[in-house]
Amino acid sequence: MSQSILFLAHVSEAGNSLPKVSYEVLGAALKLTKQLGARLTIGLIGADVTAAAETVAAAGAERILAVAGPDFASARYGSDAAAAEALCRAAGAELILAPATSRFMRVLAGVAHRLNGCVDTHVTSLESVSGEVRATRWHYRQRIEAVITRDARPWIVLLESGCEAAWTGQSGAAKVEEIPVTLAQAATRTVVSGVRAPKSDAQTIRPDANLLFVAGAGWTKKQADGKTHIDQAETLILEFLRASGASLGGSKSLVDQTGESQAVLGFMTHLNQVGQTGSTPRHPKGLSTCCHGEEPHVVGWRFINERRAVNLDPNCGWARGKADVLYVADAFEVLAKLNALLAQRSRTSPEAILQT
Ligand SMILES: Cc1cc2nc3c(=O)[nH]c(=O)nc-3n(C[C@H](O)[C@H](O)[C@H](O)COP(=O)(O)OP(=O)(O)OC[C@H]3O[C@@H](n4cnc5c(N)ncnc54)[C@H](O)[C@@H]3O)c2cc1C
Repeated sequence: MSQSILFLAHVSEAGNSLPKVSYEVLGAALKLTKQLGARLTIGLIGADVTAAAETVAAAGAERILAVAGPDFASARYGSDAAAAEALCRAAGAELILAPATSRFMRVLAGVAHRLNGCVDTHVTSLESVSGEVRATRWHYRQRIEAVITRDARPWIVLLESGCEAAWTGQSGAAKVEEIPVTLAQAATRTVVSGVRAPKSDAQTIRPDANLLFVAGAGWTKKQADGKTHIDQAETLILEFLRASGASLGGSKSLVDQTGESQAVLGFMTHLNQVGQTGSTPRHPKGLSTCCHGEEPHVVGWRFINERRAVNLDPNCGWARGKADVLYVADAFEVLAKLNALLAQRSRTSPEAILQT
């Protein structure tokens, strides 16, 4: 009997499709299904999964299962764990692949325990070698790459975003089998009464952006005229982020300044910090400005494919093999020029302008 794989996803709370990373995991699930000659089941969770099921109808899964209803609209441990457990049991799958969304990261380790199985998170790739499934993940701040195999089943694997090409296919009618779940009273005790989120233009961390824009401490340092120009730096950076849709990263020196009660860029928080003690975001391109490019910072650039930097210092770290292109220039001038070009050519992508 061939192996069975379950691709597990939840409907995005904002709309009725799946979060983007889900389609990437579906791509990985289909690849593995083919390599193993396995059978694929899709399992969906949400208030109403009809529209989401239609988006994956053409993927070629044997079955599409769902746990649906108003109780499953929002992320909540009790109801999400019950729904995921019911889908895993109904699918009877040995391997369960799910996107590493915050909703699933919170709940699937508990589900693995209920199933007497095991779980791995932060997985970046999956493949079958001679019929053995191997998962890859990074440890020690992306310095060590581990390849994991497991005998225990079911094995739940949460895959990170940006590691696989998203599966695309025509939407179409989907035959969905509803799996009934009766929730214990304790599972509905928590009620989501609303969502407080920053305004979308204040939301500077954008994992799906093509470009990572990094600001370093240089933006807050004295410039050639002997003065700091923090207001100007804020305006230039915010204008660039608005026009380009780039995601904002910061160096540790810059984000730490808040704690030292120095004047800093108001929109920069520790969540923006990229590096050894910060994050390791995944974007096709990166542009660093006023940041020295030291190793503890650049280690966070591991998954940025094309790197450019603007620095006054021709001997900065970026010049020592850490960037593809270093512009030895004043970032205030470069960004003002870039913003003017973006305003002029509002339909041109910032990457295209950077190429010119
Ligand atoms: C254990 C450990 C963990 C660490 N983890 C991290 C981490 O996660 N992330 C991180 O970022 N750092 C980390 N660091 C700190 C790191 O080593 C650096 O100290 C830090 O990244 C420096 O930040 P910076 O480049 O913004 O500032 P600086 O080193 O002060 O560099 C500022 C740069 O701005 C340039 N500049 C100034 N004005 C202009 C201008 N007008 N135009 C262009 N360029 C200009 C200057 O030439 C200079 O190169 C860690 C260090 C340690 C020891």
